[in-house]
Amino acid sequence: MSTGTALQYGERHDGPPLGFAAKPVLVFWESTRACPLNCVHCRASAISEPLPGELTTEEGFRLIDEVVAFGKPFPVIIFTGGDPLKRSDLFELLNYANSRQVGFAVSPAVSDNLTAETIRRIKESGAASISISLDGAVADTHDAIRRSEGTFDRTVWAIKEALGQGLGVQVNTVVMKSNFRELPRMFHLIKELGVKVWEVFFLVKVGRGTGVEDLSPEENEAVCHFLYDASRYGVTVRTVEAPFIRRVAKQRADPAPSLSGVAVSSQMSSELLALEGEPPSKSTVGPRGTLDGDGIIFVAYDGTIYPGGLLPVTLGNLKKDKLVGVYRDAPLLRKIRSRAFHGPCGTCGYSMICGGSRSRSYAYTGDPLSSDPACALVP
Ligand code: SF4
Repeated sequence: MSTGTALQYGERHDGPPLGFAAKPVLVFWESTRACPLNCVHCRASAISEPLPGELTTEEGFRLIDEVVAFGKPFPVIIFTGGDPLKRSDLFELLNYANSRQVGFAVSPAVSDNLTAETIRRIKESGAASISISLDGAVADTHDAIRRSEGTFDRTVWAIKEALGQGLGVQVNTVVMKSNFRELPRMFHLIKELGVKVWEVFFLVKVGRGTGVEDLSPEENEAVCHFLYDASRYGVTVRTVEAPFIRRVAKQRADPAPSLSGVAVSSQMSSELLALEGEPPSKSTVGPRGTLDGDGIIFVAYDGTIYPGGLLPVTLGNLKKDKLVGVYRDAPLLRKIRSRAFHGPCGTCGYSMICGGSRSRSYAYTGDPLSSDPACALVP
């Protein structure tokens, strides 16, 4: 995954104006589903060994060539998984992307494979950053979610090691019922570590995440208000599958905002204030952003093309289709870009800046064009 202005992973809150019809900002490649971890919320339901049909090295090169075919400035490739470090040809692929002048970032699992040596090799391959997952402010919470004792300590070590080697680090957090009240302390920890980008994923019930309790709309609203406040302390805060934070930001700028979820939010924001003091700057959460299929496209381990990693609606396959054509012309993606949604998301005045999570609408209703049930404006 990514950091910095050029390597944005989630819903953008800055950057170029809306309008991703010609090319995505990010191409996610699930380079493998193999992973040494067994996290409770894993989208990919990753397993220890690679699945049959994984893209070969040559097919990976072709994927990179297809990204180049979008034209300059090239979309950024996110090498994700599973754990990309489980691919024996990972560095060959990274070096090829670098030789084609495509920006990329890597999203490794925190396991024994993530060593000072592999971090050094990732940096030397030309990656601007890695993303590291942190799902709790303390070891008990994080290790329970990751189902691996000692992972919290190793995660803190990996963040320090990467930063010490001069590699950008983005911290990713999946927010769910069991950890959302720790967000102020998580933010404090990553800020103390010197991390500059924090990306908060709002749980979508796919893969192993179907068994995890997600937040109520009011709690989602509270977290958005908290994140809006947290973004005032010099750390870029972004969300994934919570585009309604852009609606919240607009409401916060409104002289008479409607603040659903304000009670929980004020507890979290009070804790933030107690930990960090008065915020030194304005919020960086703005009205611009991506959605699955609108600025983002996802290629699965076997080449299947999806609008996003949490939206398993098949658009084509890299083994026979051109990524550029699929991204520009898939009817579903055109509908997402034109906000042709059903229900509240279709009539909402915030639809163009928000649009709701297409992944969550699909997970709940089987229709990627229905409304996002996590939003406080959706009955
Ligand atoms: S109703 Fe839909 S488009 Fe409107 S703010 Fe909520 S999620 Fe966004």
